[in-house]
Amino acid sequence: MNLSQMIQRGLEGQSATRAEALEILRSHDDELISIVAAAGKIRRRFFANRVRLNYLVNLKSGMCSEDCSYCSQRLGSRAEIMKYSWADPRTVYQAVEAGIGGGARRVCLVASGHGPSTREVNRVNRMVRDIKNDHPNVEVCVCLGFIDDQKAASIKQAGADAYNHNANTARSHYGEICSTHSYDDRIDTVEILKRNGLSPCSGVIAGMGETDEELVDVIYDLREHGVESVPVNFLLPFDGTPLEGTTDHLTPQHCLRILAMVRFVHPDAEVRAAAGREMHIRTMQPLMLEVVNSIFLGDYLTSEGAAGAADLQLLADAGFVPEGGDNIPTEIAGLAESHGVPIRHRGIGSELPANV
Ligand code: SF4
Repeated sequence: MNLSQMIQRGLEGQSATRAEALEILRSHDDELISIVAAAGKIRRRFFANRVRLNYLVNLKSGMCSEDCSYCSQRLGSRAEIMKYSWADPRTVYQAVEAGIGGGARRVCLVASGHGPSTREVNRVNRMVRDIKNDHPNVEVCVCLGFIDDQKAASIKQAGADAYNHNANTARSHYGEICSTHSYDDRIDTVEILKRNGLSPCSGVIAGMGETDEELVDVIYDLREHGVESVPVNFLLPFDGTPLEGTTDHLTPQHCLRILAMVRFVHPDAEVRAAAGREMHIRTMQPLMLEVVNSIFLGDYLTSEGAAGAADLQLLADAGFVPEGGDNIPTEIAGLAESHGVPIRHRGIGSELPANV
C-alpha cells in the first residue's frame, strides 16, 4: 500500500484505485493509525477541521410497504419503535428548532414508505419553505423514498438543498437485503435528483453480509454517479428484523478502515459517519473525526444517538469545530447506553423533548 501516492491523488481530488480501496479494507490493525492519518490529510485539505452536524426529523415512522431487511420500519417489522403517520407541522417545526439550536446546520426531513404522493410532497414542501424562511443558512435535505422528475423539481423549487436516497449495498448483494425494489431503482432516483438540481446524498449500510469487493463496488458506483454526500451507516441489528443479532465483522478498527476507504474514493465529498457509529466505533470516535467531516447530531430515525452535548464535547476535545456554528452549548453530558439498540422514545411522536 503506497499511502503517499494515495494522499497525493486524494489532495488533487482523485479517487484511490479499486485495488487500493480493497487493500485498505484488508489492512492489518497495525496499519490503522497510518491509514487514518493519511485519510485525515485529505479530509483537512477539503474541510479543514470543520464537522457538519445534521439533524434527523422522522416525519412518518414505521408501517412501510417495503421489506428492506435491516430496517425497523419495514413491512412486518416487530421492532418496538414508535409508529405514526405524518407528524403535525408545528411539532416538526419545534423539533427542527431544537436541532438548529443544538448546532445542526443541515436538517433532514425523512418519511418512511415507498414514495410520496403529490399531496405528501406538497405537505413537506410547506415545511421546507418555513424552515428556509426562518433559517436561510440552514440546509434542508429531504428523504421521502422514490420520486419522479416532477416531484423532485417541486421539492427543489420549495427550497430544499439536497435529497437523500441511500444505495445501501452493492447491486450484487441487493437481492439479499430487499425484494420489493432493486438497486437500479435506487440509483435511477439519484439520477433524477441530479437532473433536478438537488444535491444527491446517498450512502451505505456496512455489516449486512456484503463482501469487501461489494462494499468497494457500491462506494465506487456512488462516486461514478456524482454523489456529493455519502452517509456511512453501520448495521444496527434491530430486534424484530431479519438482521436481528447480526453485527458481522464490525469492530471499531474495521469501521475506521471502511470510513478511510470511503474518504480515499470520495476525497472531496461530504463523508458522514451515520447510524451505528456509537454502537460500533465507540471510544474510537475521535479517530473517526479525522476521516469524516459530517455526523448526525442527536437521535436517529428510530434509535437513540448519543446525547447532543456529548457529541459537541467530543468535537471540541478532538480539536474540531461545528460547521457554521456559533454559540453552540458544549457542556459535558453522559454518553448513551450501548447495550443493544436503544429505541428512540423521545422527540416527535412522544411527549418527551428531542435529544440535541
Ligand atoms: S429503508 Fe425506507 S423503504 Fe426500506 S423499509 Fe425502511 S422506510 Fe421502507
